[in-house]
Amino acid sequence: IVLKRYVDDGPVPPDAFGVELSTLAADGLAEGEALCEVLYLSVDPYMRPLMRLNKAHYAPSFTPGKPLAGSGVALVRVSKAEGFAAGDVIVGRPLPWSSYAVLGADGLAAARKVPRELLGKVPLSYFVGTLGMPGLTAYSSLKRIAEPRRGETAFVSAAAGAVGQVAGQLLKRAYGCRVVGSAGSPEKVELLLRLGFDAAFNHKELPPAEALAKHCPDGVDVYFDNVGAETLEAVLDAANVGCRIVACGMISQYDLPAEKRYGVKNLFNVIGKQIKMQGFIVTTLAAGMEEDFLRDTAAMVADGRVKVVEDVTEGLENIGRAFADMMAGKNMGKAVVKVAAH
Ligand code: NDP
Repeated sequence: IVLKRYVDDGPVPPDAFGVELSTLAADGLAEGEALCEVLYLSVDPYMRPLMRLNKAHYAPSFTPGKPLAGSGVALVRVSKAEGFAAGDVIVGRPLPWSSYAVLGADGLAAARKVPRELLGKVPLSYFVGTLGMPGLTAYSSLKRIAEPRRGETAFVSAAAGAVGQVAGQLLKRAYGCRVVGSAGSPEKVELLLRLGFDAAFNHKELPPAEALAKHCPDGVDVYFDNVGAETLEAVLDAANVGCRIVACGMISQYDLPAEKRYGVKNLFNVIGKQIKMQGFIVTTLAAGMEEDFLRDTAAMVADGRVKVVEDVTEGLENIGRAFADMMAGKNMGKAVVKVAAH
């Protein structure tokens, strides 16, 4: 699946993606390569800024006409690479948006094998969600940036999504915080309450400043920011002295060109309230934490302390629509595309 053209302003429509057919010859594998069948692919918000030509971004833009790529789960079918055998299940970072992929030395070095002890225990799709990059994002940034304390009030935006659902549940069940979440529909608000959030609100119905006054009467000690803009502005007013803001993402701004983005008006509160606000890229922040993350989070999933909510789209040909729907907030939980049965 290729990006047909850059989209600079506004949502990326499903027709910005195209299908191209090409043939991979398994018997043409070179030494050090592996042929992998793609099982699941992840659609993620960070891909949106890469769909415009953006030289200042931390990652290079996609190239129109070339396959898109992101994290995914694949089954090794044929291997001429040391350390990889047919039947291994890997999490590729990245995998091309295609049904099969030939991974060479670089692709295999970046890939991780799904630990044998977890195979068959949890659905493989979890490895691009709660047990994959989004889960690691929540786990690492709470540990290394938020440092939540029992009894504190934590607020999570885009809380029903891939990162938000893990952040909220860890804040509640691993750290003992009072947790408030925001999401974009009544169904998502209900979901958050079912997941154990102490309170939740629909950001499309209630302005964040009013919602925080209602649901965080003691102020905000930890803010897990996935959206930026007016919500961040409202938190800067509601924040207690010493509040920690995990600047994880600002999805409300990703569709907009620079001149249309929201200007937060009260950033100076960071000083007076001695707020720590730290941005991060998970691959850097979480260096060295992956084993602990997988062990701790898989244990919490196994005993039900962390529940997993996924929104699965069937079929590689529908991945463009799945991406557009996720950006528009139509996903209930982690948006993932099932490419092949296994
Ligand atoms: P989600 O599964 O949360 O899906 C995106 C959600 O964002 C939508 O469902 C929608 O939920 C919400 N949203 C979309 N537009 C807006 C808007 N204008 N205002 C408010 N909410 C909006 O995605 P992820 O969990 O994968 O990602 C969440 C955030 O985490 C993103 O900002 C992403 O960039 C960031 N991230 C950062 C990483 C890092 O290393 N720093 C790594 C991974 C993710 P709703 O219906 O509730 O509005």
